[in-house]
Amino acid sequence: MSKFFPIRLTSRQLATPAVLHLTFVRDDGGSLDYTPGQFIQIHFPLADGTTARRSYSCATRHDHHMAPGEAVEFVASRVPGGAATALFEGMAIGDCLEASGPLGLFTLKPDDSNGRYLLIATGTGVASYRSMLPEIEKMMAARPLDIVLMHGIRTVDDLLFADEFADFALRHGSRFRYIPCFSRVDVEAATSIPGAEPRHGYVQNFLEELAPDPARDIAYMCGNPNMVDACVEALKGFGLPMKHIRREKYVSLK
Ligand SMILES: Cc1cc2nc3c(=O)[nH]c(=O)nc-3n(C[C@H](O)[C@H](O)[C@H](O)COP(=O)(O)OP(=O)(O)OC[C@H]3O[C@@H](n4cnc5c(N)ncnc54)[C@H](O)[C@@H]3O)c2cc1C
Repeated sequence: MSKFFPIRLTSRQLATPAVLHLTFVRDDGGSLDYTPGQFIQIHFPLADGTTARRSYSCATRHDHHMAPGEAVEFVASRVPGGAATALFEGMAIGDCLEASGPLGLFTLKPDDSNGRYLLIATGTGVASYRSMLPEIEKMMAARPLDIVLMHGIRTVDDLLFADEFADFALRHGSRFRYIPCFSRVDVEAATSIPGAEPRHGYVQNFLEELAPDPARDIAYMCGNPNMVDACVEALKGFGLPMKHIRREKYVSLK
């Protein structure tokens, strides 16, 4: 059986000026189910005759197994000159793409017994954490577990799913902290989101404030490879072993 299957575009909106919010449904009667943190690959021809591969994290809040016909959301950066960006922007609703997956091990592990997760992302990398929210809520109900979600973005215009994370933080008090880190604007601009704890600077600059603790923390990092590398180095410096550092770098694959 082919590992490829068609997915059909069912909606496309701007999530932010620089990010598309896309929904796709499997077009062959199969289900697009996944474990939160996994991604789907799309495969499409380039002008030079080669085939490109791009990966997109599943962003839908995963509170039940996706049945056949259910749509799955992705958030895709609008990269100037980007091949997939041009593809997504040129598609009509109802058009199909070739896809494979779900793939990836960047998932929450049921056997973890840590006291805190540090969930760190830049840009669209936060999609996986949005998908994980229902699973996180179940884990928090089952054991003493705190979560810190840090999201690195340039300006308030780049906030993604901020209302949902802030609402989750308000519902869970100090056990779930949502920290958007703005690299390019005054942090005051985001103080209007109740539940958010905005900072001004790169995410990696605020790790020290969280006092990472090898006996308590498991860290996830997703998004810009430079951010991921910087955080890995910083967390190793705080004594976290590599087995407690889980990462997904957003790179393009030919
Ligand atoms: C496991 C995995 C999961 C991923 N999940 C997502 C996701 O959920 N959402 C998402 O948007 N992307 C995700 N990516 C990245 C995605 O696969 C593409 O690389 C990205 O969308 C750019 O594709 P493109 O074809 O539009 O641009 P490309 O044709 O790949 O890039 C054009 C040029 O822009 C540069 N470039 C590429 N990406 C960026 C960027 N983000 N900002 C600035 N310059 C860039 C490239 O180096 C290149 O020079 C993921 C990658 C991996 C490996």
